[in-house]
Amino acid sequence: MSAVDAAALTAWVREFARLVHEQRDALTQLDAAIGDADHGANLDRGMTAAVAALEATPSDDPAAVLKTVATTLIKTVGGASGPLYGTFFLRAAGALDGDDGRALATAVRAGYDGVVARGKAERGDKTMLDALGPACDALDEALGSGKPLGEALGAAAEAAAAGRDATEPLVARKGRASYLGERSAGHVDPGAASSTLLVQAAATALAGEG
Ligand code: ADP
Ligand code: MG
Repeated sequence: MSAVDAAALTAWVREFARLVHEQRDALTQLDAAIGDADHGANLDRGMTAAVAALEATPSDDPAAVLKTVATTLIKTVGGASGPLYGTFFLRAAGALDGDDGRALATAVRAGYDGVVARGKAERGDKTMLDALGPACDALDEALGSGKPLGEALGAAAEAAAAGRDATEPLVARKGRASYLGERSAGHVDPGAASSTLLVQAAATALAGEG
């Protein structure tokens, strides 16, 4: 039986880590334009450590997989994005109840709400929320209309990428980029770019599950 179980979530985390590693320099370049040029390095370090932690202490409990990622990111990623991604995975772990697509959608929505609560940003502030929010909406909508999980995650990944691209003209209102004021416009937000990779990784790794 296919399911969004511990093995499937581990595959998601590994694919996210792979994409972050591959895109590390591109993420850092985005952060060089409107931040301090550390986002790719930060997240690559954190996700490499998260994969190592999952290998060191494998678990059959899906929530434990997400929790290990959360605590590792909080420990190893400096900057704003570490605690925010950590909160995403921690809240998702706490809300995970079941192993189907709906359970996954509920968990990632809780993760998104956790990032909102922790970072006190809104959509349109030019942050990771601009990719994660539309992705959660698209996932809920697609599952609600009866689409299989693979298709729903594909729609979520498209929504995330559109949200990422839509950050380009925005003026940042949260985080380090907000210090630049109007000069932050004209650049894609690095956190929106990395969050899009998180959703793309789910679409690749979980397509056949739940
Ligand atoms: P830092 O800005 O501390 O160097 P990173 O470069 O790792 O941290 O991450 C920057 C990203 O974090 C931004 O591109 C943005 O997407 C995200 N971010 C910053 N502040 C917030 C916030 N309050 N809420 C949501 N996301 C945020
Ligand atoms: Mg930075």
